[in-house]
Amino acid sequence: MRAVGIDLGTTNSEVAIVENGQVRVLPGEDGDLILPSCVGFSDTGKLLVGRDALRQYAAAPERTVKSIKRWMGTDHKTTLGVGGASSEETREYLPHEISAIILRALKQRAENALGESVTQAVITVPAYFTDAQRQGTKTAGEIAGFEVLQIINEPTAAALAYDLRSEETERVLVYDLGGGTFDVSVVEITGDVTEVLASHGNNRLGGDDFDRLLQLHLASIFRKEHGVDAPDDAVTQARLLRAAEQLKIEMSSHGFATVREAFLSSKGKTPLHLEAEVARTDFEVLIRPLLEETLEAIDRALADANLKAEKIDRVILVGGSTRIPLVQQMIQQHLGQTPTDGIQPDLCVALGAALQAGVLVGESVDAILVDVIPHSLGIAAAVNTPRGIMPGYFSVIIPRNSVVPVSRSEVYSTLLDNQEAVEIEVFQGENAIAEENVPLGSFKVENLPPKPAGGIQVEVHFDFDLNGILTVTTTEKGKGQQGTLVVNSVGMQRLSSHELKQAKEELDALFESDETIEISPEVTIDPVKVNPELTALLERARRVLSSLDEEQSEELQELLDQIEDAIAEESAEIPQLQEELSDFLYYVTNNEDE
Ligand code: AMP
Repeated sequence: MRAVGIDLGTTNSEVAIVENGQVRVLPGEDGDLILPSCVGFSDTGKLLVGRDALRQYAAAPERTVKSIKRWMGTDHKTTLGVGGASSEETREYLPHEISAIILRALKQRAENALGESVTQAVITVPAYFTDAQRQGTKTAGEIAGFEVLQIINEPTAAALAYDLRSEETERVLVYDLGGGTFDVSVVEITGDVTEVLASHGNNRLGGDDFDRLLQLHLASIFRKEHGVDAPDDAVTQARLLRAAEQLKIEMSSHGFATVREAFLSSKGKTPLHLEAEVARTDFEVLIRPLLEETLEAIDRALADANLKAEKIDRVILVGGSTRIPLVQQMIQQHLGQTPTDGIQPDLCVALGAALQAGVLVGESVDAILVDVIPHSLGIAAAVNTPRGIMPGYFSVIIPRNSVVPVSRSEVYSTLLDNQEAVEIEVFQGENAIAEENVPLGSFKVENLPPKPAGGIQVEVHFDFDLNGILTVTTTEKGKGQQGTLVVNSVGMQRLSSHELKQAKEELDALFESDETIEISPEVTIDPVKVNPELTALLERARRVLSSLDEEQSEELQELLDQIEDAIAEESAEIPQLQEELSDFLYYVTNNEDE
C-alpha cells in the first residue's frame, strides 16, 4: 500500500510518490504533472476536474469554480449548476467539499499511474493556515477516501524537497508565492531535522491578485479604445481574467506581450474587440506594491527567527508566481543573494510532501519534520493593572512559532467571591486585546464551590498536534474536574462518521460515471477485500504495533481483535471500528515525539 504527498494548491495541485528511494510527481493521462484546482459540471452535467473544468471556466462560470482554497475553513457556499446547461438544477458546495473533489481526482490520477489503490496521503497547507483551514483540508482528504497521515506546512515540504540535509546546520529562507497564498518561512536544517524557525504570510495574496490587477488594466484599455465599458457579465469578466493570466505568464519571459479577445462587446451592430500590447514594466508598476508587502513579511520572519539576512545560507523560491522576474529581482536586492534554483517552483511542495509520506510509511527516506505554530494561542483573561483589574486581555498560552507538537498549561484564579463558573474563551492571534484576535471557541467550567475571589484555581491546558489541531482541557485544582473544548471553528467541524460516510457516497456517485477508475473490484464477501482503506489501516496497525508502549500496544491489540471478530461476523460495526482504528493510528503517529 502506497502513501502519496499532495500539494493542494489554490490554483494548481499535484500528487507525488517515493519509489525506490526516488521521488516523482505523478502525471495525468495527458502527461500533465499539474492538475488545475478547478471543478465544474459540463453542459451535459458531467463532473469535470482540472484542465477540462478550467477550459469551460470562461464560457460557463456558473458551472465552474476555482481558487476554492481561499475559502477553506469558512462556510462560504458555492452554487454550481450540476444538471447540464439547460437544467435549472443546482447544488451548494462548501469549500471542503470542492476540495474533496480535487483530492479525489488526484487519488484517481495516482491510482491510474501506479496501477494500484492509494489510500494514504500527506497533504500540505500554507504555514499561515488557521486551525479551521487545516481541519477543513483534513476533512476534504477523508471525504476523498484518504487516510490523512499528516498535514504539513508547504515551506517545510519545499525545504525537504531540496534535500538540503547536510551535517552542517543550514538556514534556509523559503519564499512561496503561488496562485492565492503567500508564505515566507525561515527553516533550519541540521542532518535530517527540518525546523521552521519562523513563518509569516498572507493567505489572500498571490498570482490571482496579479491577474485581477491586469484584468482591470485590460478593461481600462478597452474603455479608452472604444469609449464604453466592457460588459460586466460573468462570461466577459472571466474572459478578461483568463486573458490577463496568459498575458502575465507570457511577460515572465518577454518584455512585451499582446492580448486579443475578439467580440468582447458590440456597439450597435459593430463588434468590439480587445486588442493591446502590454509592457512588462506596466505590469510591474501594478504589482510592485503587493510585492513590497511580501518583503515586509520577509523582514518580520527574520526578526522572529532572530536572524539577520546575511545569516541565511540559501533562499528557495516556491510557487508559480516566483517565475515573475520582478519577484526574483526584488528578493535578490532585499536579501543580497541569488535564490537557489533547481527544482521547478511549482512541483517542489508536492515532492517534499511525498518524501514525508514515505517517511511515515517506513520507506527508506530519512527526514524528520519539526514545525512551528503560526499564531499565538491563548484565552481571554482579566489582568491586574495599576488601574485595577482589566478583563478581556489576551493571555497567551502557546506563543507563536513554538515547535509542534506542543503542550502548555497556565493556571488562572477566580475573580469574584462565590464565582460559580469560569468561561474559557480561546483565541488565536497576536493582539493584546482578546477580542481583536480570531475566536476559536469557548466553553464553561461550571458548578464551582463557593469560595472567596482567587480561592479557586483552574488549569487550562493547550495541546497542539502536528496537524495544527488544538485541544483545550481544563482542570479545577484539587478536584480534577475536567472540561474539554472541541474547537468549533468558523463554520467548520470535523464530520461525524455518519456525515463522512454520506459525503463519501455522494462523491462516489459523482465519480461513478467515470470509467477511468480501476480499483481491482474483487468479488468476494470478505469485507476487508472490498475495503482497501481498511486493509491499509490493518497493515499499518500491524506495522506500528511493535513500536508502541505497553499500554498503547494493548489498546491497539484489543481494537484489532474486535475488528477481526466484526469482519468474521460481517458486523455492521465495521465502519465505526475502522474509524476508531484510523483515529488511533493518527493519534500515535502524530504524537510519537512527545
Ligand atoms: P502555484 O499555486 O504554485 O501552482 O502557482 C500558480 C500561480 O503561478 C498562478 O497564479 C499562475 O498564473 C502563476 N504562474 C505560473 N507560471 C507563471 C509564470 N511563468 N509567470 C508568472 N506567473 C506564473
